[in-house]
Amino acid sequence: MLEVSNLSAGYGRVQVLWDIDLDVQSNEIVALVGPNGAGKTTLLRALSGMVPVREGEVRFRGKPITGQSIEQIVDLGISHVPEGRRLFPGLSVHDNLRLGGWRNRNSDVDRVVELFPKLGDRMTQICGSMSGGEQQMCAIARGLMSQPDLIMIDELSMGLAPVVVEEIIARLPDIAAAGTAVLLVEQDVDAALTVAERAFVMETGRVVMSGKAGELLADPRIQQSYLGIA
Ligand code: ATP
Repeated sequence: MLEVSNLSAGYGRVQVLWDIDLDVQSNEIVALVGPNGAGKTTLLRALSGMVPVREGEVRFRGKPITGQSIEQIVDLGISHVPEGRRLFPGLSVHDNLRLGGWRNRNSDVDRVVELFPKLGDRMTQICGSMSGGEQQMCAIARGLMSQPDLIMIDELSMGLAPVVVEEIIARLPDIAAAGTAVLLVEQDVDAALTVAERAFVMETGRVVMSGKAGELLADPRIQQSYLGIA
């Protein structure tokens, strides 16, 4: 579904990403892990058109999308749940969700409420007054309102208690099974590799390892660097 080849990107004169190769298949959950500053957020931004691609190509459902605008990329079926959620904190849950469905004129919140029933009780609540976990649910739900084929979620666990992270991550297989593949950037490497089918590991702007998530989880280099196992 998503194929990234030899992608390079950066900010101004600073190059951050070098020769990235990555792919996500339909209905798949793929994790993207790596230390702070590795370039994971920049890669998601490049895929959603927020950061220009300098070299290489991004193909989505067989067609090149490199150089398309953010709006065009959303219309093609890629949704981005940004780091820090970026909800409209002064608007209600319902209004945030409706904004997510604005471009495709989708105002039906039933499907996302089915996925995150807690949001159903909070429709009129101002987003900024909800707990971090509820806000993350709302951010993912907003991303799903455009009915994407691929949702990219940046730092799902940021600032959340492990039990809340578990609750939200447990919904990802349902999202994938319903037809939206997931590209998950995550600091909680254990949780990410447990839910994902495959994973890519980035360090200093390059993909340094990739493969089946279960195999990476068992790899001594991953265990030592990311899971604190000596
Ligand atoms: P983190 O987990 O800390 O968010 P990350 O893997 O997502 O890390 P990025 O946020 O993509 O990494 O950052 C990669 C590099 O790009 C870092 O060196 C960072 O300082 C730099 N960078 C990020 N945003 C900008 C920006 N807007 N302008 C210039 N440099 C930036």
